[in-house]
Amino acid sequence: MVATAAWPLLTPLEQGLIVLWLGAVTTPLAYAVKSRAPLSLGVVLSVLFGAVVQTLTGALWRIGWLDRLVVWSDLVLVPSRMGHVGWWHTAITSGFLHAQWDLMHVLGNVVILALVGVPLEQRLGSKRFAVVYVTGLLGGSIAWTLANAGSHVPAWGASGAAFGLLGAYLAGWPKDEIPFPLILIRPWPVSVIALLYFGMEIARWWAAEGGASGNVAHMAHLGGFVATYALLPLIAKGGPVARGIDDGGPSGMANLRGRLDAMRSSMVDLASVDDPWTAVGRPVPKAARGILATLQSDADEPEIRLAWFERLADAVTCPECNGPVGAVERKDGPRLQCASHPQHLDWPPQAEA
Ligand SMILES: [Zn+2]
Repeated sequence: MVATAAWPLLTPLEQGLIVLWLGAVTTPLAYAVKSRAPLSLGVVLSVLFGAVVQTLTGALWRIGWLDRLVVWSDLVLVPSRMGHVGWWHTAITSGFLHAQWDLMHVLGNVVILALVGVPLEQRLGSKRFAVVYVTGLLGGSIAWTLANAGSHVPAWGASGAAFGLLGAYLAGWPKDEIPFPLILIRPWPVSVIALLYFGMEIARWWAAEGGASGNVAHMAHLGGFVATYALLPLIAKGGPVARGIDDGGPSGMANLRGRLDAMRSSMVDLASVDDPWTAVGRPVPKAARGILATLQSDADEPEIRLAWFERLADAVTCPECNGPVGAVERKDGPRLQCASHPQHLDWPPQAEA
């Protein structure tokens, strides 16, 4: 094995592959920071791109172009190497590696990183999310190193960080609902997802300790989970959303449902108002008649009303200027407006006018 200090001893191909891997992992993160895109999505791409380069190095090694499994052997965490500062980078880099050829492990982590990471970042803001991610990553690596001190068994994977996200989310907003594939793809409370994963890891760790050792670093997952769970109150302090708030969560269906419920209760009964043409003494355009009839008889649900308003907007023009009209969504339901002059057309009339 070659330490970082021995960089000049690597062949140009080996050096090139390590540089390529570093670029694949860091570019999405740098892009996310620069363009203010969600860092959680940057991390997802980072893990996927890293896995692609890692697979490439594995393939080159198999066909004999490489003497050793470069990238993997240089960047994976091995507890027995951690006494030397030259290997400390592996506490971070190992979190972007995956078992060679184990695509399911990559995908399993990416599912958590994306589905849990994105709403958690909305709760925390990008900087605090970054702190949580690094805490989970390092918590997992340190837990693995301490639990296996002196061991040559390597550790890798984004699982420590992924479980770190679950631990942080559980400590912060356990009632948020996240659409998540647990048997059924439907919104599940964070507490259910986190505790289920936590329980499954303990069970697997138990099984691995008792029988043949599994090839996933279970102890490391729990280290990330515990570290972020414990530190979240400190990290979330002064953040954009108060801890423990119960509004369904940023990605939960409850927010959408709440918005539609509020809309439903304040929507005007369209059967009780004149259509925009009759109201100004003009004939109703032919294309609008069927749509208006449906709207006035059968569009009490906000989603259905929105869809019919959009069809109506496509079918007609402004009765005043003959210009295009649009359907806009307001708190009291959809409205049909003249695109250039809302005073020409703003329908239905406001309930309180
Ligand atoms: Zn107009």
